[in-house]
Amino acid sequence: MRNLTELSLTELISPQGFDCDCGKHHVMAIRHVKIGEHAIEFLSEILQDLTIKKPFFISDQNTYRAAWQYIEPVLHEVQIEYSEFVYQEEHLEPNEYAVGSLTMAFDRSCDGIIVIGSGVLNDIGKVFANAVKLPQVVIATAASMDGYGSNNASMIQNGLKVSLYNACPQAIIADTRILAEEPVHMLQAGLGDMLAKYVSICEWRISNLITGEYYCENIASLIRSALKKILDSAGGLLQHKENEQKKNSKEEQIIDREKTDEQNRIIKKDRSQYYQAIENLFEGLLITGLAMGFAEISRPASGLEHYFSHVWEMMSLQRGKIPQLHGLQVAVGTLLSVAIWQKLLVYPASSAAAINKAEQFIDSFDQIQWENMVRRIYGNKTAVQVIAAANAEGRNSKEKHAERLAMIKEKWHEIINIVKSELPGYQDLINIMRKYDLPLNPQEIGYSEQDKQDALIGSREVRNKYVTSSLLWDLGLLYEWEI
Ligand SMILES: [Zn+2]
Ligand SMILES: [Zn+2]
Repeated sequence: MRNLTELSLTELISPQGFDCDCGKHHVMAIRHVKIGEHAIEFLSEILQDLTIKKPFFISDQNTYRAAWQYIEPVLHEVQIEYSEFVYQEEHLEPNEYAVGSLTMAFDRSCDGIIVIGSGVLNDIGKVFANAVKLPQVVIATAASMDGYGSNNASMIQNGLKVSLYNACPQAIIADTRILAEEPVHMLQAGLGDMLAKYVSICEWRISNLITGEYYCENIASLIRSALKKILDSAGGLLQHKENEQKKNSKEEQIIDREKTDEQNRIIKKDRSQYYQAIENLFEGLLITGLAMGFAEISRPASGLEHYFSHVWEMMSLQRGKIPQLHGLQVAVGTLLSVAIWQKLLVYPASSAAAINKAEQFIDSFDQIQWENMVRRIYGNKTAVQVIAAANAEGRNSKEKHAERLAMIKEKWHEIINIVKSELPGYQDLINIMRKYDLPLNPQEIGYSEQDKQDALIGSREVRNKYVTSSLLWDLGLLYEWEI
């Protein structure tokens, strides 16, 4: 078996794929990944390889402004015909409206899709390219999330956050000159989305023990090494941004013109180090996306921390508010998840008293009360979908609860060991987050104490995935847990 952590990015996307000890043959449909300064120059070669003669570009005003100046000369040089659609919305949601307006604007003489953007545009692009059955190229504009190389799109359907499994893009181009222009909060979001992996890998292993869910250690190792690589090189990213912000002040610009050669050499060196660090961050995020594709589930990259974010995002939509960047919400969710485990680690879950409490909880479980709770948190319209999905899978079934509880009792010691080996200490995580100036609590990103508590309770109902809040529910602790 090939050890995935030892492979280069080019090897990881090899079309032959890999037979793995987990029993799966890991393979992704991505054919080209070009990261680096001037990477955009590979565009014409990639289009030729994918036999795209007339691409359809999708962007929004911001991504168009950031990237078109680099793309246009390449198109001009090869004299390629194209059509384009630029979303005019200040804030775009990945929902039916966005896909619908794209569909109405689509030029059917085009034979390929090129997305210029990051999170939301990528997700919309995946769904759309899949629907029109055309190859898809992504020109990345920010190292802000890990979904570039994944085959799942995080969409909003009927007001509910869902993961749709679509085709992944055939090619990804990340020109560091474009990425370098991204605002600092996008970079922070990228780091936040990576910190989530502590929790996602930990929960994946726990679910494997309790529910028997598929797990691949090879993929988990790949994610751990990507996270480590990013954390090792990320410090310079924010430092550079801060220096740049200072430089952009008027006074500094005047001094700028009088810089000596030595000073200019240092600036140049700083920039090339910055390009390298941003390349590392992008590569780490991309590998995480590939890992999701290899596993064919989002599990390696998303757990309870993402569900905090999903529930908050739904709350924002209901309130007509614009949610914070995905990665920033996820960062807060990661810290809350680690805080939960800090308390759970000293909870005697396998003791007779704890098992008795869990059994009493399920015996007195009230389906009607539960449905009312779902309606309160998700709103009436979305709740219909949530309740139907939960009933179909038997999420509240007494028999299934008993099976899981027996496993929790038997494996609690192993679970504790997994948590200790996978999760950072609460204070260590705060230190990392402070270093990157990430938000540390829901209030900083616009959510109240009540929203925090509701997001924890609601997180179990996002979809059929066993996360820490599912474990709290099994133990009869979820509805009384204070975070
Ligand atoms: Zn595997
Ligand atoms: Zn994410």
